[in-house]
Parts: sequence; structure tokens; C-alpha cells
Amino acid sequence: MLTVTGLSRSFGGVYAVRDVSLTVADGEVCGVIGPNGAGKSTLFNLITGHLTADHGQISFLGHRVDRLAPHRRARLGMSIVFQAARVFRGMTVRENVMVGMHGRTGAGFVSAALRLPRHRRDEREIAAETDAVLRRVGLADWADRPADLLPIGQQRALQLARALCARPRLLLLDEPASGLRGQERERLAALVEELRADGLTILLVEHDVAFVTRLADRVVVLDLGRVIADGSPAEVRADPLVLAAYLGQ
Ligand code: ADP
Ligand code: MG
Repeated sequence: MLTVTGLSRSFGGVYAVRDVSLTVADGEVCGVIGPNGAGKSTLFNLITGHLTADHGQISFLGHRVDRLAPHRRARLGMSIVFQAARVFRGMTVRENVMVGMHGRTGAGFVSAALRLPRHRRDEREIAAETDAVLRRVGLADWADRPADLLPIGQQRALQLARALCARPRLLLLDEPASGLRGQERERLAALVEELRADGLTILLVEHDVAFVTRLADRVVVLDLGRVIADGSPAEVRADPLVLAAYLGQ
């Protein structure tokens, strides 16, 4: 589904991502771990086009995408939940998702915000799909509440719902479990597993190694911008380079 080859990006002469190559197979959950500053978020932003690479190639579903704008990659089927993403304040949960649906159909955020008249069938379709996405992530009962008043776990579910509006094939989640504890963390893990069971391919950045290794089929480890390990969770956990990067040994 995704092939990244020799990807590099530097800031002020310092590599954030350096000669990274990886592949993600259809239907796989691929974890990306690494210490703070390892280049995980930069890698995600390069894949989705929110940053441009200095070198390297990115193929997605057979298309070269490394010169495409983010919205064109999104249209091909990539969707990202950014690290520390926020919900829209002053909008309900349903409205938060509907904005994403309008974005996808090209009806436009502006006309949505101004409540300009639109085709009735489109509106009905959008409403139905919004409800389906809210049910998918377990937020149906929260649809009419102000989004910013949700508990943090539900706000994460809402961000997932917004990402699902684009009907992605590949979902990139940047530290979705950060700040979540106990039951909230379990619920998010269960949701990721359900989305995979639905056929989504998932790239998952997490700081929490236990969380990733539990969910991922394969784990890529970054350190100082480079891939230092790539394998099954068990292989990666036992890798001396990985232990050294994490424990400073
Ligand atoms: P991670 O997500 O693994 O914590 P990042 O990708 O955010 O790491 O950052 C990797 C490195 O690149 C860090 O040293 C960070 O300071 C640097 N970096 C990231 N984004 C920028 C930017 N926009 N400008 C300058 N340096 C950046
Ligand atoms: Mg990050």
C-alpha cells in the first residue's frame, strides 16, 4: 500500500528524517516508535505532504505521491490525525464530523458554515454518513454535545471520526493514546483493532512501546531520524539497538 524510499528532511542543516525506507502492506497495522525528537511526526508529515522531502520517494497504492499536495494525497486515501489535534470548539460532536464530510464532498466549509442551500439529497447523505461514522467510533450518544466538553478519550474518538470522513485506505495516527489512561486507553486500542478488522491499514506512532507492540503487526523504530529496527514486535523489543536508544545504554 505504501512504500517510502530514501526519505530525508532536514531543518537548518540538521536531519529530522534521514534516509528512511519502509513499506506498509494492505491491512497491516504498522507501529512507529522512537524517543522524543526521533523524527516520527516529521515522517508522518512527509508521507501526507504537510512537509516536503529534501530527498526520497513515496508511493501510495501504485501512485508516486511525493510531489502531490496534501489534499490530493488525501483524495487518494490517506488520512492523518495530527499529534495533539484539537476538536472545533463551539460546535457539537456531530457538527465537527459534518465539517469533515462537507470538506470531502467539496461542498465546502464556507457554504456549510453559512448554511447556504444545497442539494437535499447531498444533505441527507452527509447526515446519514455522519451518523454512521459517529456510531463506528462509539460516539452516537454524544452527537449533540459540545465537542470541547467531551472527556479526552471521546475527543480522540472524535478526531478518528473526522479522519474517517475521507474514507481513507491508510490512516496515520500520531500519538493517539497520549494523555489517555486506563480504560480510555483500552477503548482506543479496541477501536484501532475494530478499524483494522474493517480493512483499514494503519500507521501508528506512539511513545508508549507497550501500546504499539500490542496493536501492531510490525514495528519500525526511529532514532535520530534513522530507521534502527524494523520487524515483529517481539524482534524489535529484543533488539539491542532499540534497547540502547530507549534506555541510553
Ligand atoms: P518526534 O515526533 O519523533 O518527537 P519530530 O519529527 O517532531 O520528532 O522532530 C524531529 C526533529 O526535527 C527534532 O529535533 C525537532 O526539533 C526537529 N523539527 C521538527 N519539526 C521542525 C520544524 N518545523 N522546524 C525545525 N525543526 C523541527
Ligand atoms: Mg511527534
